[in-house]
Amino acid sequence: MSFEPVIGLEVHVQLNTNSKMFCSCSGSYQEMEPNSLVCEVCLGLPGSLPSVNLEAVNSAIKLGLSLGCDISDVTKFDRKNYVYPDLMKGYQISQFDMPIATNGKINVENKSSEIKSLIRINRVHMEEDVAKLIHNELNDSVFMDLNRSGMPLLEVVTEPDFRSSEEAENYLIKLQSIVRYLGIGTANMEEGSFRCDANVSIREKGTEKLNEKVEIKNMNRIKAVARAIEYEILRQKKAVASGERIVQETRGWNDIESKSIPQRSKEDAHDYRYFPEPDIPAIKITAKFVNEIKEALPELPEDKQARYINDFNLSSYDAGILVSNQKKAKFFDQVLNSSTKLDGKYVANWINVDLNAISNAQKDDELEKMEISPDNFGKLIMLVKENKVNKNTAKDLLSEIYSTNEDAENISKSRGLQKMEDSNELSNIVENAIKSNQAAVNDYKNGKETAVRFLIGQVMKQSKGTANPNSAETEIIKQLKNE
Ligand code: ADP
Ligand code: MG
Ligand code: ZN
Repeated sequence: MSFEPVIGLEVHVQLNTNSKMFCSCSGSYQEMEPNSLVCEVCLGLPGSLPSVNLEAVNSAIKLGLSLGCDISDVTKFDRKNYVYPDLMKGYQISQFDMPIATNGKINVENKSSEIKSLIRINRVHMEEDVAKLIHNELNDSVFMDLNRSGMPLLEVVTEPDFRSSEEAENYLIKLQSIVRYLGIGTANMEEGSFRCDANVSIREKGTEKLNEKVEIKNMNRIKAVARAIEYEILRQKKAVASGERIVQETRGWNDIESKSIPQRSKEDAHDYRYFPEPDIPAIKITAKFVNEIKEALPELPEDKQARYINDFNLSSYDAGILVSNQKKAKFFDQVLNSSTKLDGKYVANWINVDLNAISNAQKDDELEKMEISPDNFGKLIMLVKENKVNKNTAKDLLSEIYSTNEDAENISKSRGLQKMEDSNELSNIVENAIKSNQAAVNDYKNGKETAVRFLIGQVMKQSKGTANPNSAETEIIKQLKNE
């Protein structure tokens, strides 16, 4: 029997609003003194009343629109009841049956097979975050930081539409870049601002029925989500092969040991006893309000990619790499704008191949250490285009000025790295090389053509790579024939 994986993802996106979801405490809680950003509302003290953060509602609408969702005319909050030490009130204010956005869709590309899959978004809803528990294994104690309590979250829930871990991974990368383009959050997984739970089941290929699923938690990198899904698919296939039944459960992923362990089963699954939050009236959202937000949306990665393919004739792959990182895409736009003599393909190649190699070497995926300005980068690659500097020389220069932004024109001139334009100078260097390498000259006279290669090497060395190797070859042969 051949099985196919069925995967659905739930992602919590933390918003970077000025204040928390239902109180006026600051929303910039990372790196703050623990328990310094609290008030009676986010501490859940009796008698305190929540009030909705309008900026968070705006962010929810932005994300909903960007995922092709319908924005609800009326949305409301609900209480989700459970007991856990990180939850101050004994319930979380979330959204149950009237979420702010529903029925979206997003295209996810599968690089290995070049297949595009349409992933349906079930909903985007608003909720508040819980406090952060820090377990201290040394003396079996727990610290609690309430700064995170009440931070605004958007939960994005997909339909079970993924058929591979690769699709899930690409979806997460795409969602992350949309959040960043919109500027509504950092979407940083390591710092906990972008958390993903993966639901996995398997079924016989060709069947439509959804089987019992397993929910996996605790992944703090996108790659870890992919690994956890792979592990789970394999675990379920093995279980079924040995006649076991898959039971619905929640498992926690341990990335260091590359395995998941059971956390809770269906028997103790929660009944959240949702009911409408009595302290927050339902919110009416007018079409005018939604339209204003829609009109102010930035160009999103997918549209940008289409524009790059269309306007600059880039491959979908190259355009995809450029838009995967907002800073990179902006840099590309700015370099192109810096000179009319540069074309999109040429700039894209320099960014995707050469700049990429340098940022990889410097472990700077997000280009945070990059200081070179788009103008200066444009200047450098113009020098190569106009045949004034060797490509290899320019690459070395780039890795040097990547983090200093020293002027490409000045540095290449002052170090004598620009190509020799003076033919007298070349002729002198060639003459010198011939004089001081008589053995090679004799080889040449005895019919060893490779001797010319050696002499070219000598000329390049003496000219610090500024000679044009083709002109050098012509000049060498000319002088050898005259000997
Ligand atoms: P729950 O009530 O257990 O949270 P939901 O129906 O709300 O379940 O779905 C939660 C997530 O699980 C969604 O992303 C959904 O697509 C996914 N999901 C639901 N059923 C399955 C299944 N059989 N296999 C894989 N994923 C599933
Ligand atoms: Mg769930
Ligand atoms: Zn507060």
